[in-house]
Amino acid sequence: MTQTRVEEQLNKALPEDAISIMEQINAAGYEAFVVGGCVRDVLLGKAPSDWDITTSAKPQEIKKIFRHTIDTGIQHGTVTVLKKHGEKYTGYEVTTYRIDGEYEDARHPKEVTFTGDLSKDLERRDFTINAMAYHPKSGLIDLFGGCEDLDASLIRCVGDPMERFGEDALRMMRAIRFAAQLDATIDPVTMEAIRVLAPTIAKVSAERIQTELVKLMMSDRPADFILFYQSGLSKYFLPEYEDAMVTEQDNPHHCYTVGEHMLHATMKLNLEALAREYQGEEFLKAKRYLRLTMLLHDIAKPRNKTIDEAGIGHFKGHPQDGKNMVRDILQRLKFDNETIHMVMGLTQYHDREILSEDKAMRRAIHQLGEQYFPLIFYVKEADVLAQSDYRRQEKLDFIKGEREIYQLVRQEAQCVNLKDLAVNGADLITAGMKPGKLLGEVLQNMLQEVLDDPKKNDKEYLLKKYCSKDI
Ligand code: ATP
Ligand code: MG
Repeated sequence: MTQTRVEEQLNKALPEDAISIMEQINAAGYEAFVVGGCVRDVLLGKAPSDWDITTSAKPQEIKKIFRHTIDTGIQHGTVTVLKKHGEKYTGYEVTTYRIDGEYEDARHPKEVTFTGDLSKDLERRDFTINAMAYHPKSGLIDLFGGCEDLDASLIRCVGDPMERFGEDALRMMRAIRFAAQLDATIDPVTMEAIRVLAPTIAKVSAERIQTELVKLMMSDRPADFILFYQSGLSKYFLPEYEDAMVTEQDNPHHCYTVGEHMLHATMKLNLEALAREYQGEEFLKAKRYLRLTMLLHDIAKPRNKTIDEAGIGHFKGHPQDGKNMVRDILQRLKFDNETIHMVMGLTQYHDREILSEDKAMRRAIHQLGEQYFPLIFYVKEADVLAQSDYRRQEKLDFIKGEREIYQLVRQEAQCVNLKDLAVNGADLITAGMKPGKLLGEVLQNMLQEVLDDPKKNDKEYLLKKYCSKDI
């Protein structure tokens, strides 16, 4: 891309707010540029998620210039400037040019030093594509060939990779995550440094690792997790993958090792269909659960492998055991409880066949839990598509049958839970029952009958049958 073309693109994308913030800072006698991820994203033709500004002004000076600010990370030089739109505020992080000191435990810079020199600030950034700054009057400041690397889809450290990863080990995961997100490759020198320094990832907090893992899993190339494995990084934050990657399945249904199969499965989820069923935030949540489930669904296979007399591999009990391993792994990586439960459940049930019959479907939804539907069908389908093609059509047809029955049960709003039952506890009390254990049992009996036959979900019928005797 030519310099003029690049600048045209940036000028067009730059929001009014960012321009006015830079102008106000300039009017007070300081420099200011938009910097980092936003510049990179515009040059890639993507809409940036946020616009960060870097400046020669100190935080206290920024606070004098703007009326509405938040002390986001004052000790690191960051103040959030709020711009009002109607009743709503949008925040812009304004950070003073800084030189990062030594990183403590490869986590946070122990100390930061402010500087008046933009080039020093760009030098401390991780990758060339993330180290560009822009101001409409000064144009693009690209001191490390970031633009060229973007054109070549190359992730390359600013300066010496060994030094840069030595300062902050998380950057190794960021390199791989950016490669997956941007459909890029990692410069060989940068990659070699990751291999050498991989063990130092052990010093990075679980929360930061989780963020990078999720960003990679949500990218268009989740199977790039293989780079975490090949570089030796995953050994430290997901050691369960070490066995998985080398465990052969010895089974006609499979053509990959356990680990390879799981990674293939992450790529086989039908996201177009998912986007028709879930919108916005709900879609992203569902995608997150599904990608993490595919990454882990067979994680217990290595330790549950047996070989029969015919030489065929079996993995009895792996979904149940896998559920427990998923709990341990996701807790260790500090995931939230909802994610942990969703991935545990989807792992536990990924192999469960539900008869293509409405009664069995109602019972399955009741027993497994509504929250796992219809996601479980996406899991099953991706699983099959990442196996050998042995009896593939038959397996896919079976899942299709399950889905159709599921849709029927849903369309008819058939009762699958106590909350859908035509009778509730209050009705039983009105009918003369006393609150207590028996009342709960009666509701359960009613539900069992209704699960077998939805036509029985009739208040009059149920009360007559279960409550007309001596209560
Ligand atoms: P995304 O928001 O998609 O994660 P980003 O590049 O905007 O990507 P942020 O974490 O928001 O990443 O960081 C903003 C900028 O700060 C980056 O573009 C980079 O210049 C710099 N940066 C962030 N984290 C690091 C780090 N660990 N080491 C060095 N520079 C970093
Ligand atoms: Mg960002």
